[in-house]
Amino acid sequence: MKPLVVITGASSGIGRQAAIDFSKAGYPLLLLARRIDLLKELKLPNSICAKVDVTDVQKFKTAVEKAEGMFGPVDLLINNAGVMPLESIDVQPLSDQHLMVDINIKGVLNGMHAVIPSMKKNKHGTIINVSSCAGRYTYSDHAVYCGTKYAVHAISEQSRKELADFNIRVSIMAPAIVDTNLLVSVKDANILDSYNNIKKSINKGLKSSDISNLMLYTYELPQEVSLKEILVSATKQKI
Ligand code: NDP
Repeated sequence: MKPLVVITGASSGIGRQAAIDFSKAGYPLLLLARRIDLLKELKLPNSICAKVDVTDVQKFKTAVEKAEGMFGPVDLLINNAGVMPLESIDVQPLSDQHLMVDINIKGVLNGMHAVIPSMKKNKHGTIINVSSCAGRYTYSDHAVYCGTKYAVHAISEQSRKELADFNIRVSIMAPAIVDTNLLVSVKDANILDSYNNIKKSINKGLKSSDISNLMLYTYELPQEVSLKEILVSATKQKI
């Protein structure tokens, strides 16, 4: 059997597609999200679905331990869960700002914390942290979201160096616009409208399958080959 793959935010969008594509490629899966009903609906073989909020490190670790008991050591973590409640910093509630920090940054740290001991012990592993173009460039109404993704970039870049001697790869997946449900957390109608207009002008942007294919490609490279970062956009997207 192929090694265990853990995917956070597997109930929707990129994570959901990654679950389908990695399953097709024969990997046993631990799928995590808050909406466990959506995970179960996937009905993927050799998969465990766990209702885990990535901000809860204890639940995260327990789910990984249980999956390792069934499928052996975790070899890939896709730290994908994220939220994007866009709003200008002067009006954005502090609670939304903190939510992004908790999920987009601390969730990534919790995932890494849950798998690094096992990967270190096995001297084998890969972590793909989903950042964004917003981890490279800043945009209107994106101050805190960009802050969280810049953090994911920096944490991943330095972790890659610190984990290299344990044969653990750390890759950054940094997409521009992908057609998913990510905008569900945007409350301001004007921001939503202008974002949707941009999406319309670029034929909705990338598809989730574009990203999951790149994840599969990154992971299936020989372990000696570490693809540090993928910065990817729809051809039509210029910003
Ligand atoms: P979706 O909204 O479609 O999916 C987000 C996923 O994250 C859901 O499965 C959701 O599951 C999960 N999630 C959110 N909060 C938590 C939490 N606290 N605990 C566990 N899971 C959580 O969006 P995308 O697929 O687009 O987003 C995936 C990643 O891609 C995010 O990190 C996003 O920032 C990044 N990204 C997206 C881009 C885009 O244009 N779509 C561009 C660049 C990066 P549930 O609600 O069931 O918990």
